[in-house]
Amino acid sequence: MDNNYDILILGAGLGGLECAYILSKKGYKVCVLEKNKNIGGTLQNFKLGDCTFSSGMHYLGSLDEGQLLNKLFRYFNILNGLDIKRMDPEVFDRFIIGDKQIDYPMGWDRFADKMESYFPNEKDAIQQYVKLINSVANSQAIYNLKSPQDYDIRTNPYLNTGVYSAIEAITKNRELQNALTALNFVYAGDKNSTSLYTHALINNYYIQSAYRLVGGSGQIADLLAANIRNMGGEILCEKEVEELLFEEKSLTGVQIINGEKVYGKNIISNIHPAITIDMIPEGKLRKSFKTRLTAIPNTISVFGLHLRVRPDKIPYLNHNVHYYKNNDVWPVSSYPHDQWPSFFYLYTPSNDGTNDYTNSLSIYTYMHFNEVRNWAEKTERGDEYRAWKNKKAEELILLASKYITNLKENIIDWIASTPLTYRDYIGTPEGGMYGTIRDYHDPMSSYIFPRTKIPNLFFTGQNINLHGMLGVSISALLTCGEITGLQEIIKEVNDA
Ligand SMILES: Cc1cc2nc3c(=O)[nH]c(=O)nc-3n(C[C@H](O)[C@H](O)[C@H](O)COP(=O)(O)OP(=O)(O)OC[C@H]3O[C@@H](n4cnc5c(N)ncnc54)[C@H](O)[C@@H]3O)c2cc1C
Repeated sequence: MDNNYDILILGAGLGGLECAYILSKKGYKVCVLEKNKNIGGTLQNFKLGDCTFSSGMHYLGSLDEGQLLNKLFRYFNILNGLDIKRMDPEVFDRFIIGDKQIDYPMGWDRFADKMESYFPNEKDAIQQYVKLINSVANSQAIYNLKSPQDYDIRTNPYLNTGVYSAIEAITKNRELQNALTALNFVYAGDKNSTSLYTHALINNYYIQSAYRLVGGSGQIADLLAANIRNMGGEILCEKEVEELLFEEKSLTGVQIINGEKVYGKNIISNIHPAITIDMIPEGKLRKSFKTRLTAIPNTISVFGLHLRVRPDKIPYLNHNVHYYKNNDVWPVSSYPHDQWPSFFYLYTPSNDGTNDYTNSLSIYTYMHFNEVRNWAEKTERGDEYRAWKNKKAEELILLASKYITNLKENIIDWIASTPLTYRDYIGTPEGGMYGTIRDYHDPMSSYIFPRTKIPNLFFTGQNINLHGMLGVSISALLTCGEITGLQEIIKEVNDA
């Protein structure tokens, strides 16, 4: 390894890899340092027997020709290499809310028709909702790949509107309110903090079109990495960064835990901002900046159950299932310990894209970090932790069996991920699913911008602006835009 680069990127998650791609393409000498053996962060696949699972990227939106992600993937030169499967256009997400079933189809016209078929007396409210979401989604130039004059997302007027109150203002019909906000697992929706902006961007993204990743999301990381290496970029694994190095007031490089030092003119951190800031020696940064960043709370964590099931027993579902036990789609805001689990999200991975039956399933539900705090500092978690995981798995399987009635008898084996898995493997504080909470009450304080108070240190990834494939990709454009100019990058994406 050469130890002097134009751009050093800390972390080979989606955000780090996308920045590496953009800047390698611009001719910079780029190096990505990743703490794990494998690249990808939450894009990584893992295996149980012969089954492949994605650790945290299950479906993608807006991938039809001409749509946002399609253009971005074309620019990142990964569109042709991807193995994807379009989900069912009539139902890509199914919601069971108490005793009601709601299906989301692709396309806004179809969506409005479907909602009107469920709620024939609410046509005006549904039309109003569709109009509102489309105008919010169109309000941010960067999400439409237009060159914004001012790309400080924090000035968007919809950031300080709560989604819960916005929907309440449209309809008093509780069941319709639930139906319109039922996709909120994909942004850990909390009625006390989630903005209309977050809801609108994500619902619009998936309702445009939805796709599964055949064989898992690891392929995205692999394709990006191959492109980066082809352009001369380096990606080095098992390089855990422990400190940012300064000469006088200037940031010059980083130190890896084995003592190695690597230098870069500009440093982009794909590591959680609060953890990055902790790696800066005392006195190099204004205290107020550090206090603000470390005070932002993180989204709730998650318990995941990944099951291998007997062949030809459980149908492959070309949609996801979101199951709310009660007539309430806001479990994050109202999840008492003794009612866990009151919700699950289930999907059948598409391993070859053709089978009518699945050989695997993943089931997720929210989980507070407090549930695992007893073991948080232990290196050996022992039998007590294993027994706790078994109990939680059984409870989740019991609830999931309400939807897949022959589930229990067809399980071969399973593996669970807990908030500790996400904390330890990916490095998110308390295993938060989607990074920091962007609270609509105080967007100015809770949004993190790519530029920091240190001139050559930048942030990227899910904590900037928005999480997920959509949010992280837009963040990568914004971060690299700080270094090379955003207008030109947007032009290149549009021309790709
Ligand atoms: C259960 C779950 C399901 C999800 N499903 C979807 C979905 O279906 N669709 C979707 O679009 N999004 C989904 N998401 C969100 C999506 O996975 C994330 O928002 C996105 O992958 C985050 O990318 P990132 O670049 O911010 O960083 P991360 O994936 O968090 O990567 C950060 C990287 O930094 C590395 N790192 C940390 N500390 C150090 C260090 N000290 N030194 C070096 N390297 C370090 C980590 O190992 C990691 O590789 C899901 C998330 C979860 C948790």
